[in-house]
Amino acid sequence: MNAEIIAIGSELLTPFHQDTNSLFITEKLNTLGVEVTFKSVVGDSRANLVSVARIALARTDIVIFMGGLGPTEDDLTRESVSEAMRLPLKRDPDLLADLYARFAARRIKMPENNQRQADVLDGAASLPNAKGTAPGQWIDGQYEGRDKFVMLLPGPPYELKPMFEEQCLPRLREKLPPLFIATRTLKVAMMGEGECDSRSAPIYRKYERVQTTVLFKHGEVQLHLRGRASTALEAQDMVEKLAEELEDELGDHVFSTAGESLEQIVGYFLQMRTATLAVAESCTGGLFSQRITSIPGSSRYFLGGVVSYDDEIKKLLVGVPPMLIKEHGAVSKPVAQALAEGIRRKCNSTLGVGITGIAGPGGATDEKPVGLVFIAVTDGRVTDVVERQFPGDRERIRWFASQLALDMVRRKLL
Ligand code: AMP
Ligand code: MG
Repeated sequence: MNAEIIAIGSELLTPFHQDTNSLFITEKLNTLGVEVTFKSVVGDSRANLVSVARIALARTDIVIFMGGLGPTEDDLTRESVSEAMRLPLKRDPDLLADLYARFAARRIKMPENNQRQADVLDGAASLPNAKGTAPGQWIDGQYEGRDKFVMLLPGPPYELKPMFEEQCLPRLREKLPPLFIATRTLKVAMMGEGECDSRSAPIYRKYERVQTTVLFKHGEVQLHLRGRASTALEAQDMVEKLAEELEDELGDHVFSTAGESLEQIVGYFLQMRTATLAVAESCTGGLFSQRITSIPGSSRYFLGGVVSYDDEIKKLLVGVPPMLIKEHGAVSKPVAQALAEGIRRKCNSTLGVGITGIAGPGGATDEKPVGLVFIAVTDGRVTDVVERQFPGDRERIRWFASQLALDMVRRKLL
């Protein structure tokens, strides 16, 4: 079964308030095997609310409204759902008494408006709210002849969360057939989104019960797999099989299958081989070192390095021969190679990495445009040097350079 979430409140349409409730609800629904297929945010307008409610009720089995259950003029959820579902509202005397008692306990006279919070849709069960005055509502009913579960929940997260967890989830669990979701994320380095998708689509299309989403993120392609089945084992099995087939196709471009980052994987590999690493970075200005050392325990394999930004530092601290810089320029294949080999010698590490490039926006020449990067990785016997032309702004170019350097180290260790 699928669910649709509707967040209500004009504040959620401004840049200052985010709909965080739907993330919480999605996570909880997934534990029941329920997939969220639509989410919308609607301002406090009755006409818009009725329209979005009708669309949701017509296409989705579980519809969750949240927000707009307060006592004020702009709290319109009860009335709008009542209109959309053609279920009249009835003022519940017990709820009303409860509301009066709640105010009396705080020695405040209840404003007239609050009476509306005792209005319940015909056939709905009221959901007590331990944290506030707005009770929620649960409807196990029909819309246009089809069975629906509909929930009305308060907007404040500290009210919504316990209500959903303690009152809605158990009801859903009881009503829904058992269904399990298994997930897996494959991460692919240094391959375009297009190529990755054209190679993997023929495979993932065969698995109808696994939803595959391809995302390009942080200079890597991520394949998110989500399988649904009636047992956890079956769901897991489906996802594992697909993951294996995809790995066979994409080969060593796949660097991670359990959510690990590239720097984490490089760390594992270095430890496994009891190898050490040192780096001489120019255009990345320390980003490579920052990423490597963001992993706890990296001191076991990362010895250190030099941010050799200035040519004098390349010569003085990394031992790059001055002639190389003079002949080829600092951004060149031979200098990248000399940086990698020089820093390896100076630090006495297993591997040495050299990074040089033009991050821009200035500094480009006719032969050397912004985004040109050379990266070298050496193990003392063989030095691999790669030349790339990265698109984008300074930040992106530097990120891609660090990504390529990490991936080259990973490949050197395969
Ligand atoms: P309500 O009175 O039910 O409309 O909710 C009002 C309060 O709950 C405001 O502080 C809102 O910013 C907050 N709120 C409402 N909806 C959400 C949401 N979807 N995610 C996070 N906070 C919300
Ligand atoms: Mg509101």
